[in-house]
Amino acid sequence: MERYDVAVIGTGPAGLEAAITAKVRNKSVLLLGGKGSSDKVAKAHTIQNYLGLPNVSGADMAKAFLNHATSMGVEITEDKVNAVYSMGGYFAIQCHNGDYEASSVIIAAGMTAMKPFPGEMENLGRGVSYCATCDAALYKGRTATIVAYSAEDEEEAEFLAERAEHVTYLPQYEYNGTLGNNITVIKDVKPASIEMADGKFALNTDGETYTADGIFILRTQIAPSQLVPGLEMDGNHVKVNRSMATNIKGLYACGDITGTPYQYIKAAGEGNVAALSAVSYLTELKKAQQ
Ligand SMILES: Cc1cc2nc3c(=O)[nH]c(=O)nc-3n(C[C@H](O)[C@H](O)[C@H](O)COP(=O)(O)OP(=O)(O)OC[C@H]3O[C@@H](n4cnc5c(N)ncnc54)[C@H](O)[C@@H]3O)c2cc1C
Repeated sequence: MERYDVAVIGTGPAGLEAAITAKVRNKSVLLLGGKGSSDKVAKAHTIQNYLGLPNVSGADMAKAFLNHATSMGVEITEDKVNAVYSMGGYFAIQCHNGDYEASSVIIAAGMTAMKPFPGEMENLGRGVSYCATCDAALYKGRTATIVAYSAEDEEEAEFLAERAEHVTYLPQYEYNGTLGNNITVIKDVKPASIEMADGKFALNTDGETYTADGIFILRTQIAPSQLVPGLEMDGNHVKVNRSMATNIKGLYACGDITGTPYQYIKAAGEGNVAALSAVSYLTELKKAQQ
């Protein structure tokens, strides 16, 4: 498997700037995220405080960011990262569509306002999961409930339903899909909490309770402490020093995920620092390995 010098998670301003800087420093870069930058960029109405782009719309800003990245030879690998494991000297990155390796990692995954449901963290890995594709093999002849936040999750539901006996799909977005066969779609219900009883998992909602062998919660963003086991947090944010280094050697964080102010220019600036720090770390690593 190819081992990249730097893996960057997130294609908002922090991630794109980190990827561009690492590329300028001649490193092999794996940039993981959505092709269209971040919704927080693309959907902003007008931005007045980004240097060099006065009164720019979010859509135009996203275009400018992506064009810059493309012109530097930075490619986006469209994938969602489920977990990053420090293996001592390199990182294993587990994604929806495959696994990757990198010598250093920069997390630029932004902030999510969503809190875990009561009962979610206690049962994570014991029946509650964030990746249907990864765990589908465990569901042969079993049942599952999926809480989905984007139409892209419909493909995951179909994949899981090829193995599972039955899937209950609770879209938390405007659903216009065509899921069928052994998938039951229940619209307009809000999940409230998760309980385990008699070896099954009950998802309590504002209406019914849905019980199955497992529950998949397919949020677009995963809490950083779940993304990287052992990552030190400062409240809801990843704890970093001025080099954007986390408590895990070779792992850096930048942008909204490290704390306020939530601003494009701060995110991009931190992306630059994180990439330069990763480059220095790679030099040290190379020396240590000689
Ligand atoms: C409506 C709105 C208007 C705003 N207006 C302004 C403004 O005028 N000026 C200003 O300075 N700031 C503004 N902001 C704030 C600004 O959007 C954020 O500070 C900035 O986008 C943060 O950049 P980021 O790269 O850290 O994170 P984000 O832009 O949130 O990007 C993170 C990216 O990582 C991806 N990601 C997350 N988890 C994973 C994963 N597991 N695997 C792969 N990818 C993942 C996300 O999908 C996302 O694309 C505004 C925000 C909003 C919501």
